Amino acid sequence: MAESRTFVCNHCNKTIDAWSDGNPYYLDHKDEKHYAYHPDHVNLAMCIGNDKPHICLSCGYEFKLDSRFPITNCRKCNSENIADTFKLNGEQCPACHRGAFYIDPGRFCVT
Ligand SMILES: [Zn+2]
Ligand SMILES: [Zn+2]
Repeated sequence: MAESRTFVCNHCNKTIDAWSDGNPYYLDHKDEKHYAYHPDHVNLAMCIGNDKPHICLSCGYEFKLDSRFPITNCRKCNSENIADTFKLNGEQCPACHRGAFYIDPGRFCVT
């Protein structure tokens, strides 16, 4: 089961869509990365890592954090204030630095 959430800033209305599964990936025989998604259970079973979408809460830079090679600082501004986009509830919005994200109740869905 995968869950999708949309976070909305209560000040500037910036929205971020997040997906509970992130982007699970496996490597082929050439070490190339391939993503697998539901309901692709055969390939999902081969997944060895996950590129999870993250956002820098300081500068707003959005990137994928590879679970096999995790980083702790934003590549752009070097801030340690990075967050999983799926866990943004109550976090400060990096676009306006004034509001906070909350889950948009109208867009909440489970598949
Ligand atoms: Zn904002
Ligand atoms: Zn940053």
